[in-house]
This record gives sequence, C-alpha cells and structure tokens, in this order.
Amino acid sequence: MERTGCAVVGGGPAGMMLGLLLARAGVRVTVLEKHRDFLRDFRGDTVHASTIRLMDELGLGAGFRSLPQSRLSNVAVPVPGAGLVTLAAFDSLKPPYNYVAMMPQWDFLDFLAAAAAKEPTFSLLMESEATGLEFDGGRVTGVRYRADGGYRDQVLHADVVVAADGRHSVLRRAAGMRTKEYPVPFDTWWFRLPRHLSEQGEVAGVVPSLGDRDAMIALNRTHYYQMGYLAPKGSDAAIRAKGVEWFRQRVAALRPDLADRVDSIRSVDDLHWLDVKLNRLRRWYVDGFLCIGDAAHAMSPAGGVGINLAIQDAVAAAERLAPDLRRGRVRLRTLAAVQRRRRMPTLVVQAVQRIMHRVIFVPLFAGTLSGEMLAGKGQDGGRSRFPVQRTIFFILRHNPVIRRLLPRVIALGPRPEHAPGFARPLAVTPPTKLEPMTSPTDTAADTAAARARLLELIKELAVVRGKVILSSGAEAHYYIDLRRITLHHEASKLVGQVMLALADDAGIDFECAGGLTMGADPVGTAVMHAAADAGRAVDAFVVRKVQKSYGMGRQVEGPSVEGRKVLVLEDTSTTGGSALTAVEGVRKAGGNVVAVAVIVDRDTGAKEKIEAETGVPYLFAFGKDELGLS
Ligand SMILES: Cc1cc2nc3c(=O)[nH]c(=O)nc-3n(C[C@H](O)[C@H](O)[C@H](O)COP(=O)(O)OP(=O)(O)OC[C@H]3O[C@@H](n4cnc5c(N)ncnc54)[C@H](O)[C@@H]3O)c2cc1C
Repeated sequence: MERTGCAVVGGGPAGMMLGLLLARAGVRVTVLEKHRDFLRDFRGDTVHASTIRLMDELGLGAGFRSLPQSRLSNVAVPVPGAGLVTLAAFDSLKPPYNYVAMMPQWDFLDFLAAAAAKEPTFSLLMESEATGLEFDGGRVTGVRYRADGGYRDQVLHADVVVAADGRHSVLRRAAGMRTKEYPVPFDTWWFRLPRHLSEQGEVAGVVPSLGDRDAMIALNRTHYYQMGYLAPKGSDAAIRAKGVEWFRQRVAALRPDLADRVDSIRSVDDLHWLDVKLNRLRRWYVDGFLCIGDAAHAMSPAGGVGINLAIQDAVAAAERLAPDLRRGRVRLRTLAAVQRRRRMPTLVVQAVQRIMHRVIFVPLFAGTLSGEMLAGKGQDGGRSRFPVQRTIFFILRHNPVIRRLLPRVIALGPRPEHAPGFARPLAVTPPTKLEPMTSPTDTAADTAAARARLLELIKELAVVRGKVILSSGAEAHYYIDLRRITLHHEASKLVGQVMLALADDAGIDFECAGGLTMGADPVGTAVMHAAADAGRAVDAFVVRKVQKSYGMGRQVEGPSVEGRKVLVLEDTSTTGGSALTAVEGVRKAGGNVVAVAVIVDRDTGAKEKIEAETGVPYLFAFGKDELGLS
C-alpha cells in the first residue's frame, strides 16, 4: 500500500510551495501533478514582493534572482493625451521588496521543484492525475490517481489530502464541495507574436491597451510576446466565426506598434481560450481534506494577484499542518485554522476584483468606457459620465494616502505570510537592501529597454529644432538640451542605467563618476544610484570650473578621488572642452581617469580631441544618427 503524510494534488504555485515547506518540516509529502512538466500555456507571470521576501527567508533568494526575470517598478495605464499614468509605484516602497518580479511561471515552478527535491521526505509524481478521493467513513484517507497515462487508478493513502489542483478542482467536486460563483464579464484568449531581436524590451511590457469593447496585454518573453486578448464572456464562438483576418485587425488596432507581425497568427486555432472564473468555497475543508489556492477560491486575472494568494495559502497551511503531520493525525480544527487565517485576504482581494470588474470591465466591454473618458476627455469632456469611475481614477492618481498605500497592498497583499521557523535555514539573513538580478539575459533585456526608452525621451524632450548659436560660436539647425533629460523624473534613472551599462560593456572598471559642474552633475549622481541598485559602490563627484580660492581650495568636491579609478562624464560634447577641464581637475586631485563618457555625441570631433589629449577612451551612449539629426 502506497502511503505518505501529506498528499498534495496539483503542482502549481500553491502545491509546489506547500510541498517544499512540509518537506523542510521533515514531513513525508507527495505532490501529484497531471502534466509531464511545468511548461504550459500562460497562467500568470507575477511574483510579488511578499513571495520574493519568502524566497529570501527560505534561503533561496540568490537562486531566485538568477532566474530570467524583469522587475516591474510600477503599474501604469495608458490614458490618451496623458501618456502612461502610474497608479501604483512599487519603487516608492522600502527596498529590497519594492518591485514585482515578472518571470515565466514554469521557471518559478521548476525552481521550487528543484529546491524541494533536495529534501529527503519530498516526492514529486509528474504525469499523475488525481481522479478521486478515498474515504473511510466520513474522513478522507487518500487520493486515487492515474499515473503515466495508465488506465487503472492507484491509491495513495495519506494523513491529509490537500487539493491545490486549481480552478477546475476535481477533488473539490469529489469531496462534494460547491463554490459560490461571482459573475465575470470577460474571458481571455492567449496567443503569441514574434519579438524581434532588435526590440529587446522595447515594445511590450505589461501595459494594457484599452479598445472598443476589448483590451489587450502583452508580456515580454525572450523570443516572443505573450499576448492576452480580453473580450466579453461568451464571445469565443463569435470571435472564431469572424475569422483570423478580423482578429489580426483588432490586434493591429489595439497595438499599432505590433501590426507588422499579425500575419504570424495563422488561424483562430492559434488562440487559446481561457474561461475566467471568480468563485470561492464557503468551507475549505472536510475531515482529512483541505483546499487551498484557486481550488478554494478561483481568482480573476484582474490585478494579477492569484499566484501570490495561492502561495500565501500554502505557507499558512504548512505552518499549521506540520505539527499535526508530525504526530500522524491531522485534526479538523487545524484545517479550520488554515481557512480562518486565509479567509480575510481572500475576501478582500476578491472584493477588489469584483469592484474592478464592475467599474472598469463591465462598461469597457459594453463599449461605453474608454481611456479618454477616465481622463475626463470624452466628447462632453467626460464630465457627466462615469462619475464613480472617474472619481476612483482621480483618487488613485492624486490622493497621497492612497498613492502610498496602493503599491504596498498590491506588492505585499493583505496579511502577507512569513516562512515558518522550521523551513528557514539556520545561517540565512535576509537582505536589507535591493539585491541585483543575476540573470545575464534579462539584465541585457532591461538595459536594452532602458536604452530604448531613454532614446525616445531624448528625441521627445531634448532635441530642439531651429537655428541656434552654440556656446562654441558655431551655428546649428538643432540644439540638444540634455538638462531636460538628466533632470527629468523618469529619464534620470534611465541615464544612470544606460551610462553604467555603457562603461561595463566597454570593460571600464571605475569607482568614482562625475565631471564638470553643472552639466555632468546629474549624470554622475544617476550613475551612482544605478550602481547602488546593482549592489555596487560608486561615488559621485563634482569638478568646479575654477579651483576654490578659499576654504580647502578644492576643485573636485565629494568623496576623495585620490588614487581611485574615475569615469569622467558629460551630458553632451561639442568641442570636448568641458570634459577636458574635468579630466585635468581630476588628475590634479590625484584621480586616475579611466575613460570619458557622454550621453549624446554630436559628431563634432570631440571624440578624436579627447582621446588624443587625455589618452583614455571616449564613449557615448547615442550618436546623432540615432537621434535622427544627421
Ligand atoms: C488568464 C489568467 C491570467 C492570470 N494571470 C495572473 C497573473 O498575471 N498573476 C497572478 O498572480 N495570477 C494570475 N492569474 C491567477 C493565477 O493563475 C491563479 O490564481 C494561480 O495560478 C493559482 O495557483 P494554484 O496553485 O492554486 O493553481 P494552478 O496554478 O491552477 O495550479 C493547479 C495545478 O494543478 C494541476 N492539476 C489540475 N488538476 C489536477 C489533477 N486532477 N491531478 C493532478 N494535478 C492536477 C494543474 O496541472 C496545475 O499544475 C491568472 C488567471 C487567469 C485565468
């Protein structure tokens, strides 16, 4: 007879986390997963701050950060005429848990499976599909399952069976449990579009596009975009009847920047329909049996928090089940305690999702709400319509308390759980500052995305066309005002990332960054902050135009550059004069200049002059061709 302590059915986020934690408690645990691997269609990519903190508490933080991922620092919606409006800025939270990680769910599940496999009491049975429950009197005593596509059921006896088998839970039904269903106004259709190498992170992100009775989101994957089309519930047959050409046109209308590749959708068979549900059980357990995650409460994708909630359920369940499992008998009241602990977060999140459905999705899919109206820019100025929606939107954008609370609520969730003591390795101290991602692929993608966005901002904000006389006296038909970039709230951070990557790519190792005041000042501090975000120590400095004749008579201000490797920065250069003055000042202060780097090179001979006079390489992030100025 096959026997285990805890039989967990479902190798999703809830099941894998529960398996890992119980195994760390030294309890025998067997996870059954019906698929042969974790690679399957889209089920959400978000790993929230509370789960990232959990990874650190479990001593898995370094491994987690080495998985291909990108970091979401805010939630924004496109509002016509107002650009991207940020609703929740995660980067306003205290580091290191001030972001949401985006990673393919299969990578995350593989990672949990590998960590659990190190525990001697853990077993994972893939291609093992649960078909029903075993009862003894009124108590559940095991699970029936079919392995490797076989025809005969096998039985796994257990002290407790946990259903983590998702929204269509077979075991929930087998236990005679019924869910309370809430109406959901939309379904999703998943499909892929190719991602050109040259785009890197440029065109997608998680930004939703709102259309006329439909919407779309796009998520970056390494070689393609994972697209989600949202339309009214019940329209699958109608969409398929309209045919692929109609669908391609909708995609092109919602994302004109991706219109060049809609032909890659070969037929409507490429669309994977997902029936979105929002429901929950009144009681999550019967004797010997417990439901967690979507099996207990199916979550809508609205807000993208279902994975986090499922994981937090698993943590709460592990903490309460482990002592009973060690004793070999799981009490009914222990199962009740799990539900009591997780009921409030579930109610809160589902209530918010239902409000989102009612105030955003219902009118959107009825064709009566658009981004313009939210921003009060509809035909009648939007004043008379959607007062509730516009008030909520206004509060989200402008109320300081909500702006502080919202990112916290999304990133951490209500009642976030901490790793139980038995699951924490002895010698692990969770980080206190933001740790860098160590995945080479996505660091590259992040830099490419930062570079693309910075270029866009420079073109939009800094290039001033018309006849101008430059400081050198020469005449030009355009002018680049990079202070509008280096002092800009969004661009400043990108400047730091891009300049740091520029030096790294050129193999320049440096400890101090700065240049001649004032053009170089914000560039130096941006690089310093970007380096700190990447866990590196780079000091900034400022070179005065002339040496001070009073006080300590210094020309270079800030932490001393003496004997240190220095990167001299400038925003842009015409004659190279400012950079040369800065190099001279740094050298007089005892610094070892290793390179000169500017954001924009105007191709006016600065490179040749600086390299000849200083003997160090001259780097630039953007040439004038890229700005369309040649
Ligand atoms: C379209 C869509 C998009 C979403 N996007 C997001 C998002 O971006 N972020 C987010 O946080 N949440 C998102 N969600 C919600 C999220 O997917 C779920 O809340 C979360 O996956 C629940 O985790 P779980 O482990 O409880 O269940 P699941 O992730 O559903 O895992 C259940 C597992 O059980 C296995 N299984 C099922 N039946 C059996 C059986 N009989 N025997 C053995 N194994 C079985 C399945 O193969 C699966 O591996 C989205 C939901 C939908 C519908």
